[in-house]
Amino acid sequence: MHNDHRALGLAAAPVEARVGQDIANDRPVQPVTLVRPHAARRAARFFVEKFRGTAMYAVKANPSPELLTLLWDSGITHYDVASIAEVRLVATTLPDATLCFMHPVKAEEAIAEAYHTHGVRVFSLDTLEELEKIVRATDGATDLTLCVRLRVASDHSKLSLASKFGVDPRDAAPVLIAARQAADALGICFHVGSQAMSPTAYLQAMGRVRQAIVGAGVTVDVVDVGGGFPSTYPGMEPPPLEAYFDAIHAAFEELPISYSAELWCEPGRALCAEYASLVVRVEKRRGDELYINDGAYGALFDAAHVGWRFPVTLLREEASDTKPLAFSFYGPTCDDMDHMAGPFMLPADVKAGDYIEIGMLGAYGCAMRTGFNGFTAAAPVIVSDEPMASVYLPAQEAEPTPSNVVTL
Ligand SMILES: *Cc1c(COP(=O)(O)O)cnc(C)c1O
Repeated sequence: MHNDHRALGLAAAPVEARVGQDIANDRPVQPVTLVRPHAARRAARFFVEKFRGTAMYAVKANPSPELLTLLWDSGITHYDVASIAEVRLVATTLPDATLCFMHPVKAEEAIAEAYHTHGVRVFSLDTLEELEKIVRATDGATDLTLCVRLRVASDHSKLSLASKFGVDPRDAAPVLIAARQAADALGICFHVGSQAMSPTAYLQAMGRVRQAIVGAGVTVDVVDVGGGFPSTYPGMEPPPLEAYFDAIHAAFEELPISYSAELWCEPGRALCAEYASLVVRVEKRRGDELYINDGAYGALFDAAHVGWRFPVTLLREEASDTKPLAFSFYGPTCDDMDHMAGPFMLPADVKAGDYIEIGMLGAYGCAMRTGFNGFTAAAPVIVSDEPMASVYLPAQEAEPTPSNVVTL
């Protein structure tokens, strides 16, 4: 049937009408990534329309070329890249995109290739040594936007980014002054940590930006508030994204910067978390432990290593009428660490051979897959239903919760 439609030029139509249950009915042997283009478009439109500045996509959250194209078509023109491979990927996939190389510690060869071959003009740094590297690698270019990364607290975030990068605002003056001299445009950037659960995170960081600007006495052209915008997961329901934008806009207006200064942000997770979910098969049950065919080395790194919880649904044609129980998961590799504590709430009679959909894996999930131990995934499939949860839909419009799902 699929082939008949393709012959008629209608390939996309039957595929897009599918939902998770249809995939389970095919009884796939490997885990299957379900992608929701409409969810990524909705997230992109939200940032494009409501963030009063430039929203650039942090490519590492999910570098799939299909997603990059969707975001571009939805109005995302700037891309935060962190490695030369990401630079090449976006330059090839979206030749007209603006690339910003926002990793503060780069190989000199990567800077040179990014500047000379791919037209990258925006670079971040947090030391004088990195500034010298950028100046050398670009042959003293005079058309650079240089963003000095400040260290800010990660107190409100689920994943800290506070210790690795960033110059302390008290030590930032020499770096800001030197970057000002080398740059055509000077920026200040920061990252409050991923999945920031309160807008206060950005308000506090903007306080550090003010301190750094006043301390250095420099003119700043760009303030980049980074990523950290949250998605929604069991036990982690954040305030509305509008509250984050309002806090950031208000703090930006109060900074001692010129009226023409630009506001940027770098969302990764918020733009793609709702884009993908995963259908897995239960290969074995041992009490309240389910051995599934994906795990820590596949799309479930955060579930294993950070104890992140994701929403789950048992995919059965006839909903189970047994009461929900808390389960943990083992992944398919031979490694004891391939374990996801959850808890994942599923009907008490879940058993080997059942299929489960795990939601909200579009960011730092499906992108993290390795081939360790020979376990991989089937090709992604486009589905048309809503994600299991959303920060972009009013609660009542999200996918109606099937009777076999318990959301904690
Ligand atoms: C990872 C990262 C992002 C994206 O962070 P999210 O929490 O996914 O929004 C943005 N900017 C930089 C510099 C990053 O390292």
